Amino acid sequence: MASQHPRLVALYQTTAAHGRQMAFIAERDGHGLRWRLSRNHPGHVPCVVNDERDMGFGRGIYRTADFPTIPQHPRCRCYSESVPLVAS
Ligand SMILES: [Zn+2]
Repeated sequence: MASQHPRLVALYQTTAAHGRQMAFIAERDGHGLRWRLSRNHPGHVPCVVNDERDMGFGRGIYRTADFPTIPQHPRCRCYSESVPLVAS
């Protein structure tokens, strides 16, 4: 298992970097962020809650300031995407 450690660190850092980039793009464009649930852990509670939460803009869509930390845990492959904020 020790050989997987660098891979897990790289996956975590890549996911975090992608999340920061999406937050930058969303803020630049005046958009929000949508939580996109990974299929590799559909039963993981924090990620499912983030995917299903409605903050007034539709399922899984947040203002950038309210967006949950991504990744939520090691091996989390959820991601975010920039979306226009439209009140639901
Ligand atoms: Zn996740």
